Amino acid sequence: MPQKPLVYITRKINEEWIGELKKHCRIKMNPKRTPPTRAQFLANAKTADVLVPSLVEKVDEEVFRANPKLKIVANYAVGFDNIDLKAAKKYGIPVTNTPGDYAEAVAEHAMALLLACGRRIVEGDCYVRAGKYKCWDPLLFLGSELRGKTLGIIGTGRIGSWLVQIAKHGFGMDILYYDVVRNKNIEKDFGAKKVSLAELLKKSDYVSVHVPLLPSTRHLLGDKEFKLMKPTAYLINTSRGPVIDEKALARALRNKTIAGAGLDVFEFEPKQVPGLNKLSNVVLTPHTASATFFSRQQMAEIATENILDVLVRKTRPRNEVKI
Ligand code: NAD
Repeated sequence: MPQKPLVYITRKINEEWIGELKKHCRIKMNPKRTPPTRAQFLANAKTADVLVPSLVEKVDEEVFRANPKLKIVANYAVGFDNIDLKAAKKYGIPVTNTPGDYAEAVAEHAMALLLACGRRIVEGDCYVRAGKYKCWDPLLFLGSELRGKTLGIIGTGRIGSWLVQIAKHGFGMDILYYDVVRNKNIEKDFGAKKVSLAELLKKSDYVSVHVPLLPSTRHLLGDKEFKLMKPTAYLINTSRGPVIDEKALARALRNKTIAGAGLDVFEFEPKQVPGLNKLSNVVLTPHTASATFFSRQQMAEIATENILDVLVRKTRPRNEVKI
């Protein structure tokens, strides 16, 4: 009997999420929570029939050249900037991603960052842990209610639109939005108003960014834009780090040009620009906006279906990334 195909999974995930894959394939999964070194990655990638990398591993021409029996690269991510798609096409290897239902998870995380900033949750937590809470103080960590405040959303696709709903229905916020495409649904259902980027920045108490990283969105917000914002306003970014000029943001936070920021992504990820993580008016999370059990399991299930399309059903994979 021929051997089952070998699947190399570069990052440790929950084995239960790939039950269906295990029925049809042999699995080699990185047992550690850290990514493989380039040498480890190449050694394993060379012998596998299927590669399941994360955004961290570079799948370039060297990988495709080294493995003539590779059948599919099933990225364990929605993004695919880690894969050289031209090289994949040259070698005739399909590449897939995992476009699942992550919008709610990311929008909720954006809201959590917004609340953490506005209600100074992290500062309060550090204060209590440091043993500084000696007596109730009416002036301690004052914030403001969200009801009636203006939320400016940059990019009202899947995630941005969901955040509109949470902010309007959950917190009674007024919504302004800026997008290259008009979104009539959020205008009709939630009274959102489409404005220019400058008007959104000038009028919003909170600004939340949800555009993809494109040449047109790289450094969409920098020194000039932060100066347009209210000194009491907060900036939230759960999209991609380079959409914001992070050095300019650190300056704006240090100089109190804006009140604060909540960031899940960084321009030079996983690093932050010097000094950013020392500021008390910024809340930082390690790119975990979509890190829910449901979302991670669904990613594994989508990757599995893509692999089974190729290996078992002998069809084009359902989430093939086209160039
Ligand atoms: P989407 O494609 O549904 O929406 C993006 C919106 O941005 C669209 O409405 C589009 O018209 C708009 N847009 C594009 N270019 C623009 C520009 N130059 N100016 C203004 N608007 C512009 O995407 P989505 O599913 O809502 O995801 C948004 C981004 O969130 C993703 O591209 C990804 O980078 C990021 N993301 C982050 C995480 C995380 O864990 N932090 C998880 C998933 C997605």
